[in-house]
Amino acid sequence: MSNSKPGKVWLVGAGPGDPDLLTVKALRVIQNADLVLFDNLVSQEIRALFPKSVPAFYVGKCKDNHSIAQKDLNSLLVKKAAKGLNVVRIKGGDPFVFGRGGEELLTLIKAGVDAEVVPGITSASGCTTAAGIPLTHRGLAQGCTFVTAHAETELSVDWNALAQINHTLVFYMGVSRAEMIASNLLKAGLSAATPVAIIENGCRENQREVIGQIKDLVSLVANNNVQSPALIVVGEVVSLANDLNPELRAAVSAETLNQHVA
Ligand code: SAH
Repeated sequence: MSNSKPGKVWLVGAGPGDPDLLTVKALRVIQNADLVLFDNLVSQEIRALFPKSVPAFYVGKCKDNHSIAQKDLNSLLVKKAAKGLNVVRIKGGDPFVFGRGGEELLTLIKAGVDAEVVPGITSASGCTTAAGIPLTHRGLAQGCTFVTAHAETELSVDWNALAQINHTLVFYMGVSRAEMIASNLLKAGLSAATPVAIIENGCRENQREVIGQIKDLVSLVANNNVQSPALIVVGEVVSLANDLNPELRAAVSAETLNQHVA
């Protein structure tokens, strides 16, 4: 590291949690970092890959508990890069999917700082795959929409459009908004029997899936004490989890195997 060499900020996507789902580029960038700034959604297994000799700071934003204000974080990134450091700003999933990556990149570009985004597997993709739910499937869903259930100010979502498009809906940050999501979709005409899955801690050791129907979304969340981070997936594709979920498949084959052995 030298003061004459300009620094660079890498906005890196960590994926949903499993370190094997980091991209090769993300790992390479992490290994070359002078400073790492990480979010709460970056799993412990991924934090364990940060170089031991390099300082790593938590700059996460849990709901109602922001360790550092976004504008202070933006100026920290600019300041550290100006000192010639190779800064890795690593976030859960993909930085450009509900990750404020665009805002950070705009600030860096305006400040004349060299910056690059390394995409990550967004949780909607990683978690549904781990639960055996294809986001699209011929005959069931010809498209997929990612929706945030939280907004800086007021949420502006066209529920009528979402309820009519007849494809997969994935809600990020939706656990505490289950009532709002279900009631708006039902009011807009979505069938009460539409399958839903709630995937908690997807792509991690403690992944849990709760499956049911949209009319029961609120009680599914409450009765199973679902905690963040969790995604809510709405659509007919959820029914495929019965056949495609890797754990269910393993259980079925073990059963079949036992029958053969017995
Ligand atoms: N940039 C991230 C999303 C950040 S918003 C991405 O691309 O995935 C935070 C929300 O993402 C959480 O509230 C939750 O809805 C979802 N999420 C992130 N990681 C998750 C995980 N491992 N399991 C389930 N949901 C997750």
